[in-house]
Amino acid sequence: MMEPKKMVLVVLDGLGDRGNKVFNGRTSLQAAYRPNMNRLASMGICGLMHPVAPGIRCGSDTSHLSLLGYDPTKFYSGRGPFEAMGIGVNVQGGDLAFRANFSTVDDNGIVVDRRAGRISENTAPLAKALSFDMDGYKFIVKEGVEHRGALVVRGPNLSDRITDSDPHDSGRRVRDIEPLEAGAENTAYLLNRYLKRAREILRDHPFNRDRQSRGLLPANALLIRGPGKAPSLPSFQELHGMKGACIAGIPMIRGICAMLGMDLINVPGATGRIDTDYKGKFNALRDNLKRYDFIILNVKAPDAAGHDGDPVSKKEAIERTDEALGAIMDMTDDLVICITGDHATPCTLGDHSGDPLPVLFSCKNENRLERRQFDEVSCRKGPLRITSNDVFPYMLQLANRADKYGA
Ligand code: ZN
Ligand code: ZN
Repeated sequence: MMEPKKMVLVVLDGLGDRGNKVFNGRTSLQAAYRPNMNRLASMGICGLMHPVAPGIRCGSDTSHLSLLGYDPTKFYSGRGPFEAMGIGVNVQGGDLAFRANFSTVDDNGIVVDRRAGRISENTAPLAKALSFDMDGYKFIVKEGVEHRGALVVRGPNLSDRITDSDPHDSGRRVRDIEPLEAGAENTAYLLNRYLKRAREILRDHPFNRDRQSRGLLPANALLIRGPGKAPSLPSFQELHGMKGACIAGIPMIRGICAMLGMDLINVPGATGRIDTDYKGKFNALRDNLKRYDFIILNVKAPDAAGHDGDPVSKKEAIERTDEALGAIMDMTDDLVICITGDHATPCTLGDHSGDPLPVLFSCKNENRLERRQFDEVSCRKGPLRITSNDVFPYMLQLANRADKYGA
């Protein structure tokens, strides 16, 4: 048996694209200066990858689970639990989790501002005030960036088959939580009681009195949405027998990896935005390869540029990622490196699509050395036609870590 290699999965979020006018019909990836990606493609094997399955328009959460070797059709139950975990709640299997907004609601229950004027102060005092036990259930609120946060409910027989309280627009009434199926009535009743209590607490909270005295909107209601019951997931170590870590700027990806028991490597300048510290992330990757068998590194900026319909900024995010890849280019003999995306976010669409993405696996193999390019069109010439579910097993076998199937 050959020596097992370490594995690196670089996910350029929302990588795949369609032709753009500014690049004469080429994609941002085709237009980008990307010598490192092209070199890695030349050292390995390329092709196209469908997120989860052909025709599925994936979110980042389902696709990342799949890339990590977890079938989302078995393990996914909404983004709430991952978001909550990502901002620091220790979510456990069976917990019910929501994304939450601190918002401004008038005396008649009409939403004045869903984001309470995009609060710039830290809302930790409010989150703390809303974290308490009630009716035998534990309620945990955790603050996020600006008006954002998460609510986690812990206790027996919770159901995620309920509606949101968030009407998603200002000028509309806060909704009562309704059960969507038999058996969910108690959960809906419990949450309506909790949210009422939360309004009473927030109304009189010194944080809000202070805001009002400065002419700012009070954060006097918690709007919750996207209920999800936390799945009981086998840990990454249990499932793959490997020690894994994650480098990502955005809470949701960090939350997924934390939920799998992977270590989170903190990079101070990693923001998930275009101004993220690309080099800091790849230097951290390099430094941590001694300690881990597998590291996933997510770069969020290409997805954000895709949503903004900005192919130029997407190209820039790809170029800066390529440059930062330089940190591991002298380690390619000892690594299996996969570069792909989690889904396409075409700039012309401004949202995720079901288009297949380019994928490369770099693993030193002299026999296969030939010049290749890494992009949506060039990768069509490569032999692979896979789904994101295949990525992890494919890396395992290149890394000399796969068990033999059969005798
Ligand atoms: Zn994504
Ligand atoms: Zn996106």
